[in-house]
Amino acid sequence: MPIILHFILLAVSPLIGPLIGTFVGIYCYSYFYTNFGICNIDPVKSDNYDLCTIIIFSFIFLGFIMGALIPIWILKYLLYARCPKCGSKTIISNFKPITYKCTKCGHSCLTPISLSPE
Ligand SMILES: [Zn+2]
Repeated sequence: MPIILHFILLAVSPLIGPLIGTFVGIYCYSYFYTNFGICNIDPVKSDNYDLCTIIIFSFIFLGFIMGALIPIWILKYLLYARCPKCGSKTIISNFKPITYKCTKCGHSCLTPISLSPE
């Protein structure tokens, strides 16, 4: 993919990923709830109320963490930005500012954003 698209996805994924992950976590919980009867009890009357709260929040928390990590992992290892000169794989070589460097021809492509503070 083009560097600018990769860069936009890299910038947006930490914001959107955890949100989607949270909903996936809630969906997974409801899937287990309806199919396997996890916490299939009246939470107000039951003694297992604390346990169910922990289970529900661990689903949501896991979804949040996975949603934050998986897109970055995919962008780092599976979806590469292409070099605009030769079309081969680029890696992020510098974070101040964020710079994509081609692994074949060495062409560097600067982005306007710097990740580390001065
Ligand atoms: Zn190149």
